Amino acid sequence: MMENYYDEYVAHVTDKKCPAGQCKSLMEYVINAENCVGCTACARVCPVNAISGERKEVHHIDPSICIKCGACMEKCKFDAIFIR
Ligand code: SF4
Ligand code: SF4
Repeated sequence: MMENYYDEYVAHVTDKKCPAGQCKSLMEYVINAENCVGCTACARVCPVNAISGERKEVHHIDPSICIKCGACMEKCKFDAIFIR
């Protein structure tokens, strides 16, 4: 396993990242401040109120509340939400 998947192992265990974006526990939904126009669509669709921000201002996702459902990313028309 270590021979074939060493890089993936290091990414998951050391860097706490999943390069393939398959491990939900290591994913984080983030808003790109450069693209966010503050339309509030993401905040209105979030089932757990993890997104804050005033209208016409950059919004922010609280990772400690986010359940990683992906609804906000689907809703954003400005490609401002991404997974890292
Ligand atoms: S839906 Fe997109 S543009 Fe609108 S507030 Fe959310 S992140 Fe910003
Ligand atoms: S992924 Fe789901 S829970 Fe997380 S901020 Fe977006 S809508 Fe809310």
